[in-house]
Amino acid sequence: MQPAVVNFSAKPRSVELRDVPDATIGEDDVLFEVAAVGVCGSDLHMWTGDQSWKVEYPMVLGHEFAGVIRQVGKRVRGWKEGDRVVSETHAVINPDSPLTRQGLYNLDPGRKGFGAAISGAMTRRVCVPARILHRVPDHVSFEQASLTEPCCVAYNAVVMNSVIRPGDRLLVLGPGPIGVLCAVIAKLNGAQVALAGLERDLPRLNIAKQYGVETIVGDATSWCKHAPGTDGFGVEGVIDATGVSIALKTALDLVRPNGWITKVGWGPQPVNFSLDPLVQKNVRLQGSFSHNWPIWERIIALMASGQLDVTPIIGGVWPLEKWHDAFETMHSGKIVKAVLKPGMEAAGVTI
Ligand SMILES: [Zn+2]
Repeated sequence: MQPAVVNFSAKPRSVELRDVPDATIGEDDVLFEVAAVGVCGSDLHMWTGDQSWKVEYPMVLGHEFAGVIRQVGKRVRGWKEGDRVVSETHAVINPDSPLTRQGLYNLDPGRKGFGAAISGAMTRRVCVPARILHRVPDHVSFEQASLTEPCCVAYNAVVMNSVIRPGDRLLVLGPGPIGVLCAVIAKLNGAQVALAGLERDLPRLNIAKQYGVETIVGDATSWCKHAPGTDGFGVEGVIDATGVSIALKTALDLVRPNGWITKVGWGPQPVNFSLDPLVQKNVRLQGSFSHNWPIWERIIALMASGQLDVTPIIGGVWPLEKWHDAFETMHSGKIVKAVLKPGMEAAGVTI
């Protein structure tokens, strides 16, 4: 048996540390020892019981993980014991789906993700199919590598699903981990970026500032429409990384005619406003979900070259036993990202 952070029912706060059976592997899998696993905004939603996606119970949480291969299955080629790796979240896919054949296995309705449909990584050892492994260079720490997944979400939203030209003005709504990382990636892409949040988001906004991102508390109208050198029509692009549907209305108000909005934040509420401005302004509205193999390789390359340094995003590292402190601290908005280290002795937090 091994300790794991388990979400055991749909009721709010139904998460606890439980002993679960040891992982066993099949011929195409590796036994993955988790060195670091990030807490995702989605883990917090499952903890507070207000997620808008389906979860199987009981479920070991965790899908942002880095570590070491401890055993390889009989048919696995190209990987060996001791390799430093990260894993994609796509635990089960349908290899015969036309989407999979296009490389879009992440969008196939048959896909099952770690920590929501398949037992996740907030534990010591996990079974991972070799097809979703990526190599982590020695000089990238496990803590950094555990942020690959949210970086891939941001890269897909900002780079693959949006068009940014150097100098474009871009507003990101919502300073959760995905919002902050979208702002950081958009800076890499040459945009002028502002990240907007509420008063309680100040600590997270201040972390984004370290990346040269401008920050806004409350109304973003003046940055979008009245800043010196702008023409009053609004920004080229808006990324909605909030978890509330009404943010789309703000995005429609602040985007310029012929601009674009990319929505990466989920929100269960129906929209109760007119989408006519979308038509009148000739605006492109794009959803963005998940990521696939080439995006993972690219994020690791950006981390390896030093172009993407996620260290300031990591607000603290806790042992698995202290998962509750990690979740609470991240939920309070004091930090952007909490990381759990299952191999760490139960002691205080290190930052
Ligand atoms: Zn995540």
